[in-house]
Parts: sequence; C-alpha cells; structure tokens
Amino acid sequence: MKALVYKGPGNKVWTDKPKPELQKPTDAIIRISKTTICGTDLHILKGDVPEVVDGRILGHEGVGIVEAVGNGVQQFHVGDRVLISCITSCGKCESCKKGMYSHCEDGGWILGHLIDGTQAEYVRIPYADNSLYPLPAGVDEEALVMLSDILPTGFEIGVLKGNVQPGSTVAIVGAGPVGLAALLTAQFFSPAEIIMIDLDDNRLEVARKFGATQTVNSADGKAAEQVLGLTNQQGVDVAIEAVGISPTFAICQDIVKAGGHIANVGVHGKSVELHLEKLWTHNITLTTGLVDTNSTPMLLKTVTSGKLEPNKLITHRFDLADVLKAYEVFGNAAKENALKVILSQG
Ligand SMILES: [Zn+2]
Ligand SMILES: [Zn+2]
Repeated sequence: MKALVYKGPGNKVWTDKPKPELQKPTDAIIRISKTTICGTDLHILKGDVPEVVDGRILGHEGVGIVEAVGNGVQQFHVGDRVLISCITSCGKCESCKKGMYSHCEDGGWILGHLIDGTQAEYVRIPYADNSLYPLPAGVDEEALVMLSDILPTGFEIGVLKGNVQPGSTVAIVGAGPVGLAALLTAQFFSPAEIIMIDLDDNRLEVARKFGATQTVNSADGKAAEQVLGLTNQQGVDVAIEAVGISPTFAICQDIVKAGGHIANVGVHGKSVELHLEKLWTHNITLTTGLVDTNSTPMLLKTVTSGKLEPNKLITHRFDLADVLKAYEVFGNAAKENALKVILSQG
C-alpha cells in the first residue's frame, strides 16, 4: 500500500509500505476513506517530537471502513464505517477507568507517533472496541474527520478545562483549526463575549463568521491592551491559549481576570515565562492537557443533529495520493487561506 512516511526532520515521502496486519485479537484494520493533516504533524516534521522515528507513517485523524477485525473485537465488523479517534484506549487501565484515555498505559496518543498512522491506504487500530466509533448513517464523512482530534481537543482542553459558563467573557488566542474548534464548541455554553486573537486577518474574518463577537489582530504586539480596552480594563473569565509559543501564553496571563482560567491547548516546543509575581494574588486557575476524546460520543450527536457544523473548517480537498501537495498547502496556511485539508481515497 501507499503511505506518507516520516524520514527524519524536514523529510517525508509518499511511498510503498507493507499493508498492516492484525497483531492482537483486539486490533482492527481500517481502509482509510478520509484523513487530514494536523498542526502536530508539522511539529513532527520539524523534529519537535523526537520519539517519532524514521520510517513512521504519520497521521492520527480519519474515517474509514473496517477491513478486518481480530477475534477479540466485539463492537465492529468487516464493512462497518468508523471514526478513528486520535487517542487509543485499552478501556481497562487506571487512566482509562478515570476517563483519562490520553494517558492509557498501553495507548494514548500513539497513532502517527509511536505506531503507524492514518495518512495511508490502511491503518491498524489497537483496542478497536474503545478507539473507534461507529459512523451515524447519513452524516457528512468530512465533517466527522474533524471529530478525530480538533473538536474534542478544542472542547475538552479549551472550553471544559477553561470552565466556560453562560455569560462568560472568553478570549481565544490563535484562530487556527483548534482555536476555531474551541470557538465553535464554547457556544454550547452561551458565553456573553468571545474575543478571537490572531495575526491573520483572514482567520479573524472566519472567526467572526463562526461566532466571535470581537476580533483583535495581535500583529502590533498590543493585543493585551486591546482586550483590556474591550472589557472595561477587567480582562476575561477564560483565556484559551491555542498557539503554543511564549508571546501568546504571555497574552493570556495579561488578560485573565481575577478568579479566571487560563486553559492551555497549544503544543509548546519551548519553555514560557510564568508571571507569578503578578498572578499570585489573582486566584487564577491554569490548566493543561492532552485530549482524552471522552467527549467524542457527545460531539458526534451534536454533529449528527446539525447543532455543530465542523465541515465549516474544511478549506481544501485532495486525493490521498496527492498528500505531498496537501502538506504544501497546509504548511503555508496563511498564504493559502487554509484551515483543514481533507484527503480522500475513493
Ligand atoms: Zn492532531
Ligand atoms: Zn488504558
């Protein structure tokens, strides 16, 4: 089969790999119908995630059709259409019992990381019963690809950990796909204001269409002053960090109100400064996390009913075989006005 293979920092190739086989009775083999590229894949390609070895197939999102199941798989059968979670969970270990699948002792984020991923014609999914979801009939498959990672990530790590409440004032720093996923799902709770902050006017325009009440372009380095100006110098109840660099984390610290929450979602490659000399009296809560995907069944229902329309995040479509072209576009997201790209295999 063909697959997108990591060949060390800066290098990738679309090449032949052996078709995956069942290794354990709890495995399933999935023929990929649709997959996508995540910002995390770009981090891997930069060399920021050293556990990813030369030869690894990338990708941790997608939908597909069950091709084979081990004899321990009970919930899925050959021919079923399934959503692949970016998080693999055994369902039995201490972390899984707490619903913290991201830290499953024999799973967590392993797809396209520690085992071969979804940017391929076929993928092996361990613990299929706990790591796949049946696709509801009649729902747009492309929309469901957004449920593998970005929607549960924005919702669980941004909105839920940030404790967004009815009437809250929320700021989201970073209007990339995950920041926009937080924007869409924050609206479940009817916050009074959602202020979106980004360097890119096109993304801010998209954010307005998706429900942001205010937008701030941070290019002048004065985003915090602008947010304080928009909030009577009070700041925000919830500051969601969806970039993963020091300046954006600094904005969150400057704009969080006393008693407020900073919810870090961004993937950080370097350390940041924590201004406890200012924050120690502010009764703030700072949260971090890797997505557990335990909100996926709920999010599936909201997409099925049309309450949530994540297909709005899709800007480009390619054949799976054109994955290198798709990386080119996704890697130049600002220039290409790209959010999520869909890769399809007919
Ligand atoms: Zn991802
Ligand atoms: Zn587990």
